[in-house]
Amino acid sequence: MSETKLLQPGSTIGIVGGGQLGQMMALSAKYMGFRVGVLDPTPDCPAGQVGDWQIVAEYDDKAAIRQLAERSDVLTYEFENVDADALDSVRDVTEIPQGTDLLRVTQDRINEKTFINKHGIGTAPWRAVNTMDELRAAVAEIGLPAVLKTTRGGYDGHGQFVLRTQADVEQVAHTKPWDGTGHGLEAGTPEEEAANGGFAPSILEGFVDFAYEASILVSGNGKQYVTFPVVRNVHRHNILHMTIAPAEHAADPDSPLATAARDLALRLAAGFKLAGTLGIELFVLKDGGVLVNELAPRPHNSGHYTIEACSMDQFEAHVRGIAGWPLPEPKLLSHAVMVNVLGQHVAPTRALIGTHPEWFVHDYGKAEVKHDRKMGHITVLTDDTARTAQELEATGCWDDLK
Ligand code: AMP
Repeated sequence: MSETKLLQPGSTIGIVGGGQLGQMMALSAKYMGFRVGVLDPTPDCPAGQVGDWQIVAEYDDKAAIRQLAERSDVLTYEFENVDADALDSVRDVTEIPQGTDLLRVTQDRINEKTFINKHGIGTAPWRAVNTMDELRAAVAEIGLPAVLKTTRGGYDGHGQFVLRTQADVEQVAHTKPWDGTGHGLEAGTPEEEAANGGFAPSILEGFVDFAYEASILVSGNGKQYVTFPVVRNVHRHNILHMTIAPAEHAADPDSPLATAARDLALRLAAGFKLAGTLGIELFVLKDGGVLVNELAPRPHNSGHYTIEACSMDQFEAHVRGIAGWPLPEPKLLSHAVMVNVLGQHVAPTRALIGTHPEWFVHDYGKAEVKHDRKMGHITVLTDDTARTAQELEATGCWDDLK
């Protein structure tokens, strides 16, 4: 990471990627007086609707990235699969306060786990596996059940498979599960897979019998780091459904869970010399221990509650961080529940907006409504998160996920 300079209002922030994360970054940036440029292939994308200008081009279009860089004082990104080399190649014309090491680490599950473990932080036991023989050897060491994941390109459970029996393990050789599913598209280059008998570069992880999933956000400006509360996340069909803020066991900032999560978040942030916001997905174990599942080098879906519930939200923290501004310690002003609005939830939730004044409704302005596509979210501030979660479910809007 290069040393961050204090970016003055009126300067331009370029965002690679124009989805909802870019949109909410852009909104924060606009409040702070920055100009915002967006690179995204979809005209009038969510961030394009908020930013000052948009370059309509693919994310990996090197000429377009250069154009974005030439028009911006700093560049940032809203998703992790950005071409790190392409970003490095424009450092002659713009600043990239986040650097690209964070991207390179988080783009590859092996690099990511290695980095996390190197900082003394626990993960599921894991082995890199590139052939059937390596897979069999890793299963013998780690045991079953285990989770086989492609090292690159996976998200929301895509490109990953739970192996419960030896038969499941042998099945991998026959089905090459990342092929033909449409889920492992970026799993390996054809050359890599050909060299490994059709096997995509993968990681085998021990199956963690967690009590629940949680996350913590940490933000930094390259020198100073602040954390947000630990929240509990409920996934349905591998997609985040609901976030409970704070996680019950972390409501007290001095609780063992809050302390352990904050400690590991600050260690990772310092390890990366973090500028901007990093999402850290956690497994909370039945004995109260905590492991890191994965890292998101950007604001995170589970942090959307911070917009209403915290004194500084994750997007403002991101923008302040990349702008080299000092970061105040975020305070949780209210407990909150956040629920995602996927394509199939748009009509039922819109029908109820008029009768739920307590709903803070966010709609990302995506033109095309698709099943399972993240279209918006709703946050409710509450002093009883369990009751509020029940009330949200009782509306029936999310019944398809049961
Ligand atoms: P990931 O893409 O790595 O975040 O995984 C998606 C989801 O799969 C996680 O949110 C967990 O619910 C589940 N999962 C991933 N890895 C493991 C593991 N090692 N043990 C148990 N569940 C896992």
